[in-house]
Amino acid sequence: MLVSAVLPMRAFAIEASDRYRSPRNPERRVRASTELIVLHTTEAAEHGSLIKLCDRGEAHYCVTESGKIYRIVDRDREAFHAGRSMWCGKEDVDKFSIGIECVGHHDKAMPSVQIAAIRTLVKELQSMYRLTDDKVVCHSHVAYGAPNKWHSQKHRGRKRCGMLFAMPSVRSQLGLKTRPSYDADVRAKRLVVGDEYLRKVLYGNVDTMRGAYAPEPAAPKDTGGLFSWFRRKEKEKPKPPTPEKKPVSAPKPAAKAPSKVPPKAPPKTTSAPKATPPAPKSVAKPKAVISAAAAPRSVKELVARGYVLKGTVTKGVSASKIAGGKWNSPNTYYTIRNKVIPGNKIDPAHIENGMCIWMPK
Ligand SMILES: [Zn+2]
Repeated sequence: MLVSAVLPMRAFAIEASDRYRSPRNPERRVRASTELIVLHTTEAAEHGSLIKLCDRGEAHYCVTESGKIYRIVDRDREAFHAGRSMWCGKEDVDKFSIGIECVGHHDKAMPSVQIAAIRTLVKELQSMYRLTDDKVVCHSHVAYGAPNKWHSQKHRGRKRCGMLFAMPSVRSQLGLKTRPSYDADVRAKRLVVGDEYLRKVLYGNVDTMRGAYAPEPAAPKDTGGLFSWFRRKEKEKPKPPTPEKKPVSAPKPAAKAPSKVPPKAPPKTTSAPKATPPAPKSVAKPKAVISAAAAPRSVKELVARGYVLKGTVTKGVSASKIAGGKWNSPNTYYTIRNKVIPGNKIDPAHIENGMCIWMPK
């Protein structure tokens, strides 16, 4: 094929920019071994993060929300990304790991294009360094804290950095089938657990990202027949008019508050039941709200509603290239093989070549 004939053979198949390559490179040692890939979250916006990472040489790569990959420190050199760290008894994880910073927060779902880019990068590095899925960890797996006024011993849980990458739903989006199953340093009593919640995220079942990219409901194929019309009507039926009045639930236990605090008497912001809104005019739906039921189900419907085809995802033309920051907007639609998927429901693992992207004119 012509295309493959033209592409040069490259050891590294990832497109990465050198725009923020760190001036620290020459002073960094070449790593003796590579045993882990450590994922981080910047907890800060893209630009400032890139400047800082570059300036201090604190990662090998940085993946932005739009899925762009920047090379910071050459992958065979040491980057200073893990700080005070230990894994299986070995301290200073920088000496034997690759660090990838991902623009975002440890407890927030990332855009699918970003997840897709991280996945590609991680897979490439895994195959390059022959690392199994359980060797892809997050910073919070390896960071530990020195004794301080809250912890009398060395403890795991200094940071929650990158925590979401331990959650099963995110790992599955990254194509990682396993994760470390226990903390060898805690088990060997080199460290104690300093953050019980984090422990549950890393090794238990806490997965707050689950459903953050809800897969399309497995609805029967819309054949346009009477049945699907009926289904739509059923879905569009207004819910019984329950005014959005939050039940006054028991006050949540504040994270820090010791349990001896008795449940408070009526919270001061008792939002007195607002003057009950006039009974909703049953059927009429505010048209600005795009609900799943109202979502277009076919290309024909998209066109009828004034959506235009903005482009088709292909190799080298990503969803974010076509739709920009609106790639995951509920008002952007992906179509393929008679399926119509709103941007806010698109699964990063399922953005595929040939998908058409539709946006309002
Ligand atoms: Zn980190």
